[in-house]
Amino acid sequence: MCGIVGYIGDDQAAPILLDGLEKLEYRGYDSAGIAVFDGKQIEIKKAKGRLKVLEELTHDGANMPGVVGIGHTRWATHGEPSDINAHPQYNKDKTIAVVHNGIIENYQKIKDKLTAKGYKFISETDTESVAQLLDYYYEGNPLEAIIKVMQRIEGSYSLGILFADHPDKVYAARKDSPLVAGIADDGSYIASDVTAILKHTRDVYYIDNQEIACLTKEGITFFNMDGEPVQKESKHIDWDANAAEKGGYEHFMLKEMYEQPKTVRDTMSPRIRKGHVVIDDLKMSDDDIRNIGRLHIVACGSAYHTGVTAKYVYEEMARIPTDVDVASEFRYRDPILDKNDLVLIISQSGETADTLAALRLAKEKGIRTLAIVNVVGSSIAREADEVMYTWAGPEIAVATTKAYSAQLICHYLLAIRFARARGEITDEQEQAYVADLEKLPDQIDMLLNNKKKIQKFANRYIGAKDIFFIGRGIDYAISMEGSLKLKEISYIHSEAYPAGELKHGTISLIEDGTLVAAIATQKKLYPKTVSNIVEVKTRGAFVLAVTNEGDTDMEEHADYVIYIPQTNQYFTNSLAIIPLQLFAYYVAVGKGCDVDKPRNLAKSVTVE
Ligand code: GLU
Repeated sequence: MCGIVGYIGDDQAAPILLDGLEKLEYRGYDSAGIAVFDGKQIEIKKAKGRLKVLEELTHDGANMPGVVGIGHTRWATHGEPSDINAHPQYNKDKTIAVVHNGIIENYQKIKDKLTAKGYKFISETDTESVAQLLDYYYEGNPLEAIIKVMQRIEGSYSLGILFADHPDKVYAARKDSPLVAGIADDGSYIASDVTAILKHTRDVYYIDNQEIACLTKEGITFFNMDGEPVQKESKHIDWDANAAEKGGYEHFMLKEMYEQPKTVRDTMSPRIRKGHVVIDDLKMSDDDIRNIGRLHIVACGSAYHTGVTAKYVYEEMARIPTDVDVASEFRYRDPILDKNDLVLIISQSGETADTLAALRLAKEKGIRTLAIVNVVGSSIAREADEVMYTWAGPEIAVATTKAYSAQLICHYLLAIRFARARGEITDEQEQAYVADLEKLPDQIDMLLNNKKKIQKFANRYIGAKDIFFIGRGIDYAISMEGSLKLKEISYIHSEAYPAGELKHGTISLIEDGTLVAAIATQKKLYPKTVSNIVEVKTRGAFVLAVTNEGDTDMEEHADYVIYIPQTNQYFTNSLAIIPLQLFAYYVAVGKGCDVDKPRNLAKSVTVE
């Protein structure tokens, strides 16, 4: 999820690696480390905390001689931030060192197999399974061992690898996680992000999925999974350093929106096995789940909005009575909690002060708590009885997009798991839900590719004074998030309303030309929302509708229609939110707002 740098050449490696890691610092990380071949053996230094700690430990790299090395900044997904869990990870005698970005989904299986064969694991990371598995397969030929490992591991990864037996080489490989290689006058480089090596070279090779690179001082050879060399063309990077940090996107927010298909996949696929939901991180037994009396979802901001959506899913699919509370309200209203209830806490950072206080309140009352959190080892993750991580990676833009999407996935998975344990859905139903979930990443991708159309539309609303979002049921929850996204970053006043509630007040605010975004993805509520569209249109509103593919009659009612691909009714939020994120983004860009750092807002709200 974070950063990799590797180097082999004429110069001392450690300072080059540290410098490259510094360039990746903006992404956020919790620990850092480097491994260098010092002429005799692989030397590894790593430390929890800022890069400064590692720089002090190595005297800015000076006390680590050697011209071959790999470096890493870690953003923990498996195992708390700690010295031991920091990368590089290695085998028993430190003859193989590995840095890794991503998630090895089947690491537990590998760990169990190797443990049975006498291997000892010392970290809690998924990455160590790669180092130990390399050891297991290695018989003198690194390429063969790497290919065998890649055939065994599942998930997403970019890897940098050193073999003590081959001190004149750095190996790299990847699947579904970025990695580039580049050649400069002084040697060869790898990096998870071109920013890290831009200073040395602008001609880079994008390593393809399931490709392996072997770097020497003189050059780089690429191999496919059959071990055959592959010819590649280098690409010239003409972005400046600032644009390179954003992967060529204008803002982190846009980059993160585009990361959503991957984020959704990363959060979901380790928890799906053969068409079934298997949440290894959940300790609750079927009996525990059956005994849940009431679910209390507590969160702030966008995380709260995922809760509003999820309430409909937990109640309708799993038949669990569910309350949703804003954390700052929950903590002061002396909530009635029963010993069989479950308090579900949601926070990207895991440090949101009000949410943390709500968690503590629930714990004081002896109620079981489960947290959906993005940052491993954060306060909420540590204090909750159970944690389900969203594997969204670091999110830099203040306005959340990919963490929000990942939270939704956790809710869907939990709802299916709960519904199954409580006998509310059949095996076939579960498989049908899972099949729809698995389509989401590609469907999100498709919607993102529609950005031009939305950009054009958004440009018309740069001068808008008020914008309204309406919907019913889950569509109301989507409206809340669409509205929040818009006002957070564009500073345009906006409100979300349950569509049926409009005529009890807000309809008086509709004037000639006021934009009303109507979300109508819920089949059984569709005719009702259409009636509300007609009501606002009669009062002069311009209506943008977001509805399901196939519901073309919407064109008779709304002025502008965006279609989302077919999915199960419970999951439409994951798709309908994409055009609304894009809309908010382009309105804000059009107005010249500071999209990534909107005024008065902070990424992690650690004050009450
Ligand atoms: N999953 C690995 C870990 O938790 C890699 C994290 C990263 O990409 O930084 O150690």
